[in-house]
Amino acid sequence: MAEHESSPLAQATRDAFLETVETTDSDAESPRIDFDGLLVEVDDGAYVLETPEGVHRGLALEDLERSLETVAPYVSNWYFWSHIVGGEGTARRAFLRWCEGTSSADDEAVPARYANLEDGIVRQWGQLQLTTRLDADGQGRGARQYEIRHVDDAAVDLEALETHRDPYDAREIVTEDADGRYRPLKTAPTLVGGWVFEGLSSADFVETVRTVYPATVENWHREQHDELDVDHWLEAAERQTGIYDVVDELPREALEWVTEACCVDSQCLKRREWHYTEDDHLEVDGGDGTFPCREPCSLVIAAARKWAILESEEEKTWHLELTTSELNQLAEIVDAVADDRTDQIREADVYDGANRYRARYLRAKRMDEGSLRAESHEE
Ligand code: SF4
Repeated sequence: MAEHESSPLAQATRDAFLETVETTDSDAESPRIDFDGLLVEVDDGAYVLETPEGVHRGLALEDLERSLETVAPYVSNWYFWSHIVGGEGTARRAFLRWCEGTSSADDEAVPARYANLEDGIVRQWGQLQLTTRLDADGQGRGARQYEIRHVDDAAVDLEALETHRDPYDAREIVTEDADGRYRPLKTAPTLVGGWVFEGLSSADFVETVRTVYPATVENWHREQHDELDVDHWLEAAERQTGIYDVVDELPREALEWVTEACCVDSQCLKRREWHYTEDDHLEVDGGDGTFPCREPCSLVIAAARKWAILESEEEKTWHLELTTSELNQLAEIVDAVADDRTDQIREADVYDGANRYRARYLRAKRMDEGSLRAESHEE
């Protein structure tokens, strides 16, 4: 069996391994340990120790103990997942495994994964860059350390970022965007950068991700197991009461515009999985996000209430006088506001229809007291 360069196993790891091997029911046919390529079983009264690199048969307990250092990465990896992470079947555990690339069919063997963990395995979750490394102080137990930073800060020196270790510090980070405006939608792609959470334990790491993007780990996990309970628009709308009772009156076609306004990737990093109903799908693309959206969120419900009321108004034909350029300018202003780029338009750029001076000129020429000078045909 090939020897792998690694730290010696910690005594706690060795003790836990031997205890597990010894205390498992000796009559049981199933292996004493079967995890990530490490297999320990009893055959004909003797232990068998097997990894993808080779197999030892006919071992007494003392032989088994002596052989552990030859498969140290497999043993410390087993210890980390069974004794430090635990939580078999939980979203937390599945997410941590995904973070080090162990959730796909072409998982790498533990020694290769350990080599990658030395450098750091990087994943992206929304606007978060997640890095998993072997903990230099805890390698004999397979311990990992985790780092979280904004994807835009991927190349920034650690010293240049504000360091955090408490998951709940993230509450403040997610509150406002770069312009100091409140972020009502935590999955909007407006997360500010300039910070790093480093040296996190697995528990604090998951807690930090949950604070930045609430419920995303759980819903991603449900989806992995085909258990995502999607609430489509009509069910969610019909459940609303009080001032939101009107949202189920929103016309079917208007829901396409709602999702285009609020749910596309440029506005929200969740991948929308809900439609009008289970059988009536929306044409607007749900997006490419890593984590799913299982129901219309409160921001969409609140906005839809306004649109439901506005859509109840009758359409009219209006008469107003505009030059062709002025008509085009109205479209340019709407575009600039919808794409949130009005503050990028320079004051001197009077060629842009959404330029402030151009807009002020149009208002002075065509508006009275906040309204366009227009008449409806019925008037
Ligand atoms: S409903 Fe739309 S905006 Fe709200 S979280 Fe889901 S995808 Fe994002």
